[in-house]
Amino acid sequence: MIETFTDAYRKTQDVITKETFEKDWDSFLKTKIKKLMGDDGLNDAEAASLTKLQNDIKYPKGAAKTSRSVEADAILEAAKQDDANKLQDRAAALKFLRHVYFISKRGAQSIWVCSPPKRYANWTYDEFAGLNKVELKSRLAHKTEIFSTGNMNKMSAGTQDALAWCQKVLISLASAKNKVKKDRDLVSRWFADENTDDAKLDALIEKLTAGFKKIRDVCNSNQLVFSDDTVDRSTQPNLWKTTYALVHDEKLHVIYVEKVLLGRSGTKLEWAITIVHELSHREIKTKDHFYSESGLKPNAGSFPSDKALENADNWGFYAANVNGALTKGKIQAVLKEP
Ligand SMILES: [Zn+2]
Repeated sequence: MIETFTDAYRKTQDVITKETFEKDWDSFLKTKIKKLMGDDGLNDAEAASLTKLQNDIKYPKGAAKTSRSVEADAILEAAKQDDANKLQDRAAALKFLRHVYFISKRGAQSIWVCSPPKRYANWTYDEFAGLNKVELKSRLAHKTEIFSTGNMNKMSAGTQDALAWCQKVLISLASAKNKVKKDRDLVSRWFADENTDDAKLDALIEKLTAGFKKIRDVCNSNQLVFSDDTVDRSTQPNLWKTTYALVHDEKLHVIYVEKVLLGRSGTKLEWAITIVHELSHREIKTKDHFYSESGLKPNAGSFPSDKALENADNWGFYAANVNGALTKGKIQAVLKEP
């Protein structure tokens, strides 16, 4: 069973390479789309091919535009060959790409979004497995996606904020290293306990600097993907509804956006904190010892300095604080001992 975006991506590369599609589609997929799907992730120089693929599915030549099944018919037409064997997989490859978007480019930064139909409970390959052609057509016709345009705009803006935050954090950490008191105090506030002396604080500053460079580099790369977590959403709906976002252990740089961030409570501040939090999991292997709700103040008793350095929310809130994004009240509320 396919669990992650990376797995679905690899499977799609495999199906496109090994399977035969309708003649025109086959050469397009085996040249342009193959180039789009690099081994390390999507290639933004080929983003126009992704748009072409989607337009050819949405507006196929000669199709009646009013029919609800235009897209399903176009995918089945592209996926068919004399041998019906693996028709579901070929359709799944096209349907997967139908819902992957290139949403923004600023400098070196590109952002991708995977927004499959809301109604799907699995990645397309498992969703379509074993369906006959009539069932497959009906499943292919689902188009209403999990993410709205507004959600996608927040993914882009949030990543932009997270990148700006990391850049400012790195400046503050450089000052902290040069003994500037206010910058050292910020590090102490979120990561030091009663036993942290000056030398230990210097070591913290070194580790934070290395970590924030990694997070900055992902925010500024062309490989960051925001995806639906389709399997968790269908198998653990209550967890999905109470979670902001999460990452899985996988090769590609993917942040799965869950219900809390998608809802009205997903503020600008929360998006940026969440992106730093999730990328700290991915890049520095931080954990979730405590969330902000239970308090993040390091203390020798319940939350020593080494645990705070390991805790994703401390990275997110420290970055927000350095960037002046937290009110005094918020800082007070979060800085209680867990
Ligand atoms: Zn976490």
